[in-house]
Amino acid sequence: MRKHIVAGNWKLNNNLNQTETLISELKQQTKTSDAEVMIAPTFVNLWHAFQATKQDDIEVISQNMHFAENGAYTGEISADMLKSIGIQTVILGHSERRAYFNETDESLAKKVDAALVNNMRVIFCFGEELADRKAGKEASVVESQIKNALFHLEPSAFKHIVLAYEPVWAIGTGETASPEQAQDMHAFIRKTLATKYGNAIADDMTILYGGSVKPGNAKEIFSKPDVDGGLIGGAALKAEDFYAIVNAF
Ligand code: PEP
Repeated sequence: MRKHIVAGNWKLNNNLNQTETLISELKQQTKTSDAEVMIAPTFVNLWHAFQATKQDDIEVISQNMHFAENGAYTGEISADMLKSIGIQTVILGHSERRAYFNETDESLAKKVDAALVNNMRVIFCFGEELADRKAGKEASVVESQIKNALFHLEPSAFKHIVLAYEPVWAIGTGETASPEQAQDMHAFIRKTLATKYGNAIADDMTILYGGSVKPGNAKEIFSKPDVDGGLIGGAALKAEDFYAIVNAF
């Protein structure tokens, strides 16, 4: 059975005080859906956020990690370090990481491996740029991102993976893929997975949509049969908006 997940990516937002405030506001919200709720604060606030939500129905997850277990990688954080403070899930391959920090399919494949070796769950992000869509290449771009970073994995690994389709042109722009565009791509992603790993794994895969999801459009996007939840940026920074999205299922 596929899970519904709504994950908030806080990006480079919220210092410690703001993190405390937003978490206490999130805790005052009521969840009426079956969606798993996740929040991804910045690295320095993960421990605090984890402690502050331990008793709540909110999972604190990481926005990134390095592929090495330890060593001479100044400024980086490993899977082992995340696990040691209770973090079980990591977002990998966000388009901002790919665009501004030169993350490639190759380095992402290594990060995925490192997360899985450490028994972590991965939310793996991918999506085409506007130029790709204008050129009608969105399906082939998405297919190669998935294949290059994930298709070396054993079938059993997919139990620990969640996919997040995030068209780059819809992230933080206010422009959303139409529910039909999201559904078409999610169905294509499921088919791509089925071709390599079979229908059972493809049918079980949770596929999130990300890109300017808001309280006003979440219900329609989530009503599509292959959309199993959302990765939320801007709207995750307001507790009421975030839970309006969580409760859109
Ligand atoms: C994101 O950062 O993953 C995202 C989808 O951002 P936004 O909701 O702001 O478009």
